[in-house]
Amino acid sequence: MADEKIEKLVILGSGPAGLTAAIYASRGRLEPTVISGRAAGGQLMLTTDVDDFPGFPDGIQGPDLMVKMRAQAAKFGTKFIDEDVVSVDLKQKPFTVKSESSVLKADSLIIATGASAMWLGLDSEQKLIGRGVSSCATCDGPFFRDKKVLVVGGGDVAMREVQHLSKIASEVILVHRRDEFRAQVALVELIKSKTNVKFILSSEVVEVLGEEKVTGVKIKNNKTGEISEHEVDGVFIAIGHKPNVEFLNGQVELDRGYIKAVDETGTSVEGVFVAGDVADHHYRQAVTAAGMGCQAAMDVEEYLENVK
Ligand code: NAP
Repeated sequence: MADEKIEKLVILGSGPAGLTAAIYASRGRLEPTVISGRAAGGQLMLTTDVDDFPGFPDGIQGPDLMVKMRAQAAKFGTKFIDEDVVSVDLKQKPFTVKSESSVLKADSLIIATGASAMWLGLDSEQKLIGRGVSSCATCDGPFFRDKKVLVVGGGDVAMREVQHLSKIASEVILVHRRDEFRAQVALVELIKSKTNVKFILSSEVVEVLGEEKVTGVKIKNNKTGEISEHEVDGVFIAIGHKPNVEFLNGQVELDRGYIKAVDETGTSVEGVFVAGDVADHHYRQAVTAAGMGCQAAMDVEEYLENVK
């Protein structure tokens, strides 16, 4: 096709990494297209108060921050396709990127597709997702006003979920498989100060009870093996995230499931760059993702100048 348009840069994902890359790349006249994903905005869309993003002394709501980042990218000329990326062909240049209804050719790519919530994997949990089982307290918390809910996990996300739910539900039970937390001490102390939060430690949920909706859980004590039943109306799973890499179909080298970053933001494929949680199993903060997005855009600019 003689008149086929080739984009200089396509960015996959619209969390802090993808949108920061878009802001830098569009200011650098790379005219990027962002395939934002149907869950545009990434994990911050599922958050309430963001207190640790610099520049907001009174905090900012996660979705508000993402709306502002997107507006900033759009102001400098970033185009958006609000669909999921379905597949990519990185074997020949220009690269091909397919979203649900479009096919793009691109000289370079930034993969910033983030990570998604993990589930326990119990049949009973999967059956009741959306019927009392959730991975997002911000999204589903309001359904549990003055009800009893349970959160599984011991990291920062679990603590944030408990913090949010403790303002809505009558009682929140936190179940964690160990008796030490992975979460920041300050967050754990905050949660411990809540009068309507109860801890069940060294324990795991082994079954979610209920037919049409959640009515309770079975919990196993990992030290004694004892199984106990607890009546709850909602179960929130907050046990970590897995990087969104399925659409790559093995074309980019991974490390423990995450995209392996080479020389800061490069990947095993020349011309394909990476930013944010899809490559970061350690820091996973909005601000570190944004920083890596900036780096990736600058690296793309240098790459495109050198391959001309
Ligand atoms: P995380 O830190 O990896 O914690 C996951 C937790 O789930 C761990 O406590 C883990 O237990 C538990 N877990 C994992 N698999 C489990 C299973 N199959 N059954 C039961 N429990 C299981 O993940 P995260 O809490 O989602 O946080 C992700 C990242 O975002 C972290 O780097 C975090 O610091 C960051 N974050 C920061 C903030 C903030 O306020 N600054 C807010 C949210 C997230 P073990 O401890 O036993 O492994």
